[in-house]
Amino acid sequence: MDMNAANLELIIQQVLASMKGTANVTASAPAASSSIPKTAKVAMLTGLEKIEIKEYPMPEVGDDDVLVKVEGCGVCGTDAHEYKRDPFGLIPVALGHEGTGEIVKMGKNVKVDSAGKPLAVGDKVVTCMIFKDNPDITMYDLNKQNVGGADVYGLLPDDDVHLNGWFSDYILVRGGSTIFNVSDLDLDSRILIEPCAVLIHAVERAKTTGILRFNSRVVVQGCGPIGLICIAVLRTMGIENIVAVDGEAKRLAFAKEMGATQSVNFKDHKGIEALAEAVKDAFGGYYADFAFQCTGSPVAHANIYKFIRNGGGLCELGFFINGGDATINPHFDICSKEITTVGSWVYTLRDYATTFDFLKRAKGIGLPIEKLITHKYPLEAINDAFVTNLKMEGLKIAIVNE
Ligand SMILES: [Zn+2]
Repeated sequence: MDMNAANLELIIQQVLASMKGTANVTASAPAASSSIPKTAKVAMLTGLEKIEIKEYPMPEVGDDDVLVKVEGCGVCGTDAHEYKRDPFGLIPVALGHEGTGEIVKMGKNVKVDSAGKPLAVGDKVVTCMIFKDNPDITMYDLNKQNVGGADVYGLLPDDDVHLNGWFSDYILVRGGSTIFNVSDLDLDSRILIEPCAVLIHAVERAKTTGILRFNSRVVVQGCGPIGLICIAVLRTMGIENIVAVDGEAKRLAFAKEMGATQSVNFKDHKGIEALAEAVKDAFGGYYADFAFQCTGSPVAHANIYKFIRNGGGLCELGFFINGGDATINPHFDICSKEITTVGSWVYTLRDYATTFDFLKRAKGIGLPIEKLITHKYPLEAINDAFVTNLKMEGLKIAIVNE
């Protein structure tokens, strides 16, 4: 019996020793941490139309921080403006705000995302606003302020950390930022979250008029990425009577794939009267109940009132930046027709959660959302990606890390 007890004790000690050994190995070199390199590559805009890939030491991950290995990031019109003219005066700046990636390291205080969903190493995430100490933007008043008034990664001034934009191979998400666990979405969907949130917000704004309903006749003017996503969002709401207006046959064909029932090429119609008549014909002899203006053209803004019925509504969301003045006739265009107009710009934090659901629903009803990403470039070729974007080739251009 003593022998058995001694043997047993020996066996237990051996097992414990081997477990301790394994535990030590795991503790000193966790799988994820061991693969984190000593430096990170950041695409830094160092001058007009000049992005350099810089290498910076991997920063310390603080107790409230999350280190994310970047998988991809879309190129936005805002990025292109900054690249060409630096209107925000940010140079040198690490751009890229439409990014997503995988958590490789987390501070000890980080347990859940901004929606309360658990977060762990290996989860796929996106970021939205950075709150810091701004009392005007709080988690409890989500619709009060849109993201235009808050900081976001990819449009921050450079600092000692440098890992501030998603055009990089790592980004340090600091405490006070909003972060969402989107592990249930594929990479292409995740890259499209930010631009899709713009449309979720626009449709929310449109709904405040009380005019937009499931059986509304809706015209969407402009079939760039914004107009195309607009059509998809309307379609996932059950709106089936959508007319797309654009000047490019290829984009109009894609608009139909995204859910438009009819399309009108403005190049086929001379003058606004003829164009308005064509839109009316496309609705079977009716003007639109509601219109979304998705181009940055002042003339397009002036034109769109002619497509709308008396008592109809308009959401103007095409002017992310100042595109100049539009000439309308307030009597004919707004007053006598009693048009209800809303403007929409970027999104609020609240629109993010809705966007995740939209992307799943869009896939569910077979809308080819992922086809919006027409070009993918590695980080090293980021200047080429911007040149392609500025040439207005394709739709959404993305940087994708391998
Ligand atoms: Zn953007």
